[in-house]
Amino acid sequence: MNITVIGTGYVGLVTGACFSRMGNKVYCVDIDEAKINGLKNNIMPIYEPNLVEIVERCQKRGDLIFTTSIKDALDDSNIIFIAVGTPMAEDGSANLDYIFSAAQDIADNISQDSLVVVKSTVPVGTTFKVQEKIQNNCNFNVNVASNPEFLKEGSAVNDCLRPDRIVIGAENDEAFDILKELYSPFVQNHDRFVLMDVKSSEMTKYVANAMLATKISFMNEIANICEVTGANVKNVRLGIGSDKRIGYDFIYAGCGYGGSCFPKDVKALINTAHVNGYEARILSQVEEVNLNQKKVLANKVVDRFGSDLNGRTFGIWGLAFKPYTNDVREATSLTVIRALIEKGAKIKAYDSQAIDEFKKAVGNEYLNSIEFVNSRYDAIEDCDALILITEWKEFRNPDFDLLSEKLKEKVIFDGRNIYDKKITEKGFELYQIGC
Ligand code: NAD
Repeated sequence: MNITVIGTGYVGLVTGACFSRMGNKVYCVDIDEAKINGLKNNIMPIYEPNLVEIVERCQKRGDLIFTTSIKDALDDSNIIFIAVGTPMAEDGSANLDYIFSAAQDIADNISQDSLVVVKSTVPVGTTFKVQEKIQNNCNFNVNVASNPEFLKEGSAVNDCLRPDRIVIGAENDEAFDILKELYSPFVQNHDRFVLMDVKSSEMTKYVANAMLATKISFMNEIANICEVTGANVKNVRLGIGSDKRIGYDFIYAGCGYGGSCFPKDVKALINTAHVNGYEARILSQVEEVNLNQKKVLANKVVDRFGSDLNGRTFGIWGLAFKPYTNDVREATSLTVIRALIEKGAKIKAYDSQAIDEFKKAVGNEYLNSIEFVNSRYDAIEDCDALILITEWKEFRNPDFDLLSEKLKEKVIFDGRNIYDKKITEKGFELYQIGC
């Protein structure tokens, strides 16, 4: 099949590369010329395990074409995926400017009857608006479908090649048939298609993220109750997870969720409900609990060291919003580091992938107070405490004797509950979330 993917970010690049990997000819189109030029030379704009190998192989074979020319792409393909960003607008709604601009680009360049598939996360009804915009501005027949993406940053290639499910929303058999044929090599083991109407498909993506965010905020709230009562949330998790109706997954307490999806999608769903006359009370609290949870680590530091942190230096392990990505959008590290610097502290920070992105995101006024280093142990040299924010595997089992030597005080704030209380027997003060 010949396919165009518009938008070469996390979703567009990974899905485009994976479609190509399955033998399709794929045009990946982006308006960002620097990104496209880099990709033509196999330079990835994001860190994602196994991505570069697939891109290299498919480009060499001639089946993966990076271009800024949507015309060239649409001249040679009639299945068009829209995978542009849908960032948060000021009022919390999804900003659909990129979506409608891509729709206009399609209308201006389409050269045959086509299926337009909205892969971006969009509010209910958007896919039909995209169809209307294209159909009203071109002379070809435009069929549409919704096909939300469920890949996770950090394991995006694997998620894409081996999806749990493929949700397709369409209003006719032709669209279902084309997409089932395209995806069948991804689900050869057993049928994982979930077919539905377009609006339910759009909604499904928001609900999946809202449910996951709810699990996290729920468990963080429980952690905070554990903390004030003397219970241990790690034990509580094991106790409740053994109930099959609850399960062990995604009920870890920690220092809050971030990333480009959960915060924006929860807010967008609250907004969708609101503009349709319904107030989403649970979701509003999920968001509220998370904003508070991101402050918990800095509050613990203040409880231990006082509110004047002048003369103190803290070593930070992990800046990315989660392991195996360089993405720092809405990351807890931003909240913690800004709060500590505003109280006078200096920071030494280490993350194997996310330093460059963090420098761009944190704000120039903070940069003078942060020293970025190249190894986990350099980050704690002469520091008053270690603060762990992202649970990269290299932080799980460090040399605690070396930590004792390098830290000025043997204090650890563990924002992801990865350390065993036993380290207190080595003289460490350990502060965790809910235990
Ligand atoms: P991103 O910001 O990483 O990439 C979007 C890309 O689209 C950018 O490269 C931008 O230059 C390009 N673009 C914008 N307008 C364009 C146009 N008119 N023509 C061509 N290119 C254009 O975004 P992302 O993280 O890949 O997310 C894309 C969508 O997928 C969003 O709706 C997001 O919510 C959703 N999603 C993201 C993830 C994730 O983990 N990042 C997972 C599932 C779904």
